[in-house]
Amino acid sequence: MKHEEILAWIKEDGPAKLEELWARADEVRRLRVGDAVHLRGLLEISNNCVRHCGYCGVSLNNPNLTRYRMTGQDIMACVRQAETLGYGTVVLQAGEDYGLTREFIAALVRDITSQTPLAVTLSLGERPEADLEAWREAGASRYLLRFETSDPDLYGRIHPSLPGRPSDRLALLARLRELGYETGSGVMIGIPGQTYESLARDIQLFGELDLDMIGVGPFIAHPHTPMGKSAWTAPPGEQVPATEDMTYKVLALSRLVCPEANIPATTALATLNRASGREQGLRRGANVIMPNLTPPQYRVLYDIYPSKACIHETAVECGDCLRQRIEALGRTVALGPGSRSRRQSGTEAEFGETPTP
Ligand code: SAH
Repeated sequence: MKHEEILAWIKEDGPAKLEELWARADEVRRLRVGDAVHLRGLLEISNNCVRHCGYCGVSLNNPNLTRYRMTGQDIMACVRQAETLGYGTVVLQAGEDYGLTREFIAALVRDITSQTPLAVTLSLGERPEADLEAWREAGASRYLLRFETSDPDLYGRIHPSLPGRPSDRLALLARLRELGYETGSGVMIGIPGQTYESLARDIQLFGELDLDMIGVGPFIAHPHTPMGKSAWTAPPGEQVPATEDMTYKVLALSRLVCPEANIPATTALATLNRASGREQGLRRGANVIMPNLTPPQYRVLYDIYPSKACIHETAVECGDCLRQRIEALGRTVALGPGSRSRRQSGTEAEFGETPTP
């Protein structure tokens, strides 16, 4: 898809035109990844972090937060719950926490993959290559690392490097792929200073990177972060709004540029519309939901942004609720790990034409 076309779609506000985009994304989703929705159990294993990301509530910038790190035993108990609930994958996510040592995570991944049929996805930040290698060897099959924005100036502002360690998430994504991980990335939508041009380039980059997984969600200002306090914005008319509709547009376009990717309807989206955000996401390109498995006492402390959806539910309540919502859409819940299937790429002619904005 050409840059101008993506740009025109993200600026499009006509309801009838947008219906065409939703329908096209839903059709491509159905043809390329099917009707089954994959459930990935999300386990937020630590809220300690060495970074100062301007957007994130668990960054070092926030002194008002009680910090936790789950024990191996606690984590394995939740993993067994994921298995009981019928999920195919467990996602271990955390701040960039070196208290989660290379050895600790490797042993955990070995335990999970040897004792359960679950696939393991990691989302532990910009860890050294030796860690990523060890975890891959231990059996982790996927890694999520959002590049957040493809605009280098904006990235530098919102995501400061650590002293002596420039932050190059694109290089890390390439390395992850070389190591044999399925790689996932994505961006926040409506970051203060994010222009339509740069968001269109982000989406184009998803296609160029041929991502296996794409996570996108609205930026939600956190009051205890530098970006939650600043009134910074792009020039008039250029700032991307952090809205529900903009999120659907990016979801739908992500499906069109990466037809086979696994794409979740994210919790951040559900936070903007608790009643039907996830359902609408699933009808506009998404094929994955990430039910939260984190024990409630820790879940409230994994405070990356405020008013997260499903913050007080137990894992069982969360799983049941999502299953009902999926079935009500006429979709099915997938069984098994749900890796990306690299089917033969179809031509555009084969799948019909993409509507133009
Ligand atoms: N430490 C890991 C996991 C971070 S949390 C890492 O850096 O990769 C996962 C994602 O949550 C981030 O990549 C970011 O895109 C998103 N996020 C963080 N703060 C947010 C906010 N205030 N609003 C919306 N999304 C946010």
